[in-house]
Amino acid sequence: MYETGGALGSIFILFLIVVSVMAFLVPLFIFRIRNEVIAQNAKLSIMIDLLNDSKTEIICKLCGSQNNKTATKCKFCGSPLGKI
Ligand SMILES: [Zn+2]
Repeated sequence: MYETGGALGSIFILFLIVVSVMAFLVPLFIFRIRNEVIAQNAKLSIMIDLLNDSKTEIICKLCGSQNNKTATKCKFCGSPLGKI
């Protein structure tokens, strides 16, 4: 009876030690994951910006230069843009 109680007590103490170690480690993991998420979001926003920039540009069919979406004529050769 006493033997099992002592075993349970040691298991409980071990469990408490594990929990305390986890309590110290979990915030570090959470901060690490948070930083990774922030870094990923920054990369994603940069990628979205790049994609939007590429979408807002029209490539001239004649000379291949990039023009603004609002432009109606190519800034290099003057040929009409749009209507692909
Ligand atoms: Zn052109």
